[in-house]
Amino acid sequence: MLLAQRDRTLKHWYLVILAMTIFGSQVSHSASFYEQLQAVELADAHVDALGQVEASGDIDRKVVCLRPMRKGLPNISAEEVGEQVRVHLYGHGGSGWTLLWGSVDKAVQLFKEKAVAHKFNELVPITIVGAGCMGKATALSLYHEGYRNIRIIAERDDSIASLNSTGYLAMVSLATENESEKKQAEQLAIDTLKGYQMVDKGTHPFINEGVHLIDVYSGLGKEGEDGPLETYTGIEPYAEAGLLPKPQDGVVKFSTGVSYPMRKFQTYFMDTRVLMKAFDRELKARNIPVIHETVGSLEDIKTYVVFNCSGLGAAKLNNDDKVYPNMGLLLELAHQPLKKLDYIIYTRYQPPGTAKRVGPMDKADIYFMPRSGGLLGATFVDHNDGSDKALNEKLFTRILRENKQFFGYPLD
Ligand SMILES: Cc1cc2nc3c(=O)[nH]c(=O)nc-3n(C[C@H](O)[C@H](O)[C@H](O)COP(=O)(O)OP(=O)(O)OC[C@H]3O[C@@H](n4cnc5c(N)ncnc54)[C@H](O)[C@@H]3O)c2cc1C
Repeated sequence: MLLAQRDRTLKHWYLVILAMTIFGSQVSHSASFYEQLQAVELADAHVDALGQVEASGDIDRKVVCLRPMRKGLPNISAEEVGEQVRVHLYGHGGSGWTLLWGSVDKAVQLFKEKAVAHKFNELVPITIVGAGCMGKATALSLYHEGYRNIRIIAERDDSIASLNSTGYLAMVSLATENESEKKQAEQLAIDTLKGYQMVDKGTHPFINEGVHLIDVYSGLGKEGEDGPLETYTGIEPYAEAGLLPKPQDGVVKFSTGVSYPMRKFQTYFMDTRVLMKAFDRELKARNIPVIHETVGSLEDIKTYVVFNCSGLGAAKLNNDDKVYPNMGLLLELAHQPLKKLDYIIYTRYQPPGTAKRVGPMDKADIYFMPRSGGLLGATFVDHNDGSDKALNEKLFTRILRENKQFFGYPLD
């Protein structure tokens, strides 16, 4: 019955593709496609008797992590406090890697303007608080600009947002509140894209690995239908500006036999674990230390220059009530045929046979990224610090069940 339905869908889309090829597409997207993809391996992924996802078989571990969200835009600003120059660089939500190079360049530029006024030379002592992607990339960038007296202080550099990030270059998780903020964020994103293009081509001044172009698939279904639904992927602004390829509509058939009409985009995949390791190697090569300490107050730092790259920590360190956590849950996978899984799925999804639900256009229910051993995710729960274990388990179960359905596996 299910197979017959799949075959009918496939046949329907063969005819659509044929018609599009002969008569030209009715939509503004370019040529259609038909692709066969390896499905994510979930045959050995289960929930236990309590209905909780088991961290065994195809599931390596369940991860709870927090995005450093900020109402409005990230704070990228410079101020003078007595003789000290403080540059703030935090609050990038779920788009920190997407906005990285543009944000770091802007922060370094603000510092350089102050440095001229203060007559700082290249030996001025600089403390960077935070060892996430913002802190580490800022340190390397300052070194590249000639500064030689830099140290990083951080509570930790493991289990942080920058390492847990899934590495999808897209404008999907910021809390901008108006068109002007959205445009400013898009400019940072475009400047960042140029940085990754340099990394990909091997022309970046200090990083040349961990980034490549990747296909991204999202749904085409309309509200109220079953299966993958039309989704705002966050790649649209780049595609519209001609910076990334225009999307195409077509059909994806997975190795399990399920097939769906889908929209294909391209963006950069940033393997955040590889990139963070590369940052560490480059910092070490330049003798920039990472000191593991918790900073109680920015007043405690006595260097002339401080970069505040403390992510969520900025809520306290800069007394910023616009900063709040947004919880992302991930199921990290094991035993995946990763070489054949070099794609991203980012789509809203209506599981067949369940009550219809309405979610935001830009938040995916099915979210597969090939980072590390491959992962499924991700929730976007605002003002949630991850401590509600019952809710987390419920969401992990939702993630697994819906992915099993999407990729064509029977439910337990
Ligand atoms: C599940 C998940 C998925 C994501 N996916 C994506 C994605 O696909 N694409 C994308 O672009 N972005 C994504 N992000 C967002 C991205 O990871 C973050 O925006 C980015 O990592 C923020 O970097 P950061 O350096 O500001 O903060 P963090 O990585 O959080 O680093 C903050 C640093 O500050 C230190 N610190 C804090 N307070 C103190 C203190 N008082 N004293 C000393 N040190 C302190 C911390 O220890 C840490 O070293 C994702 C995030 C999560 C959680």
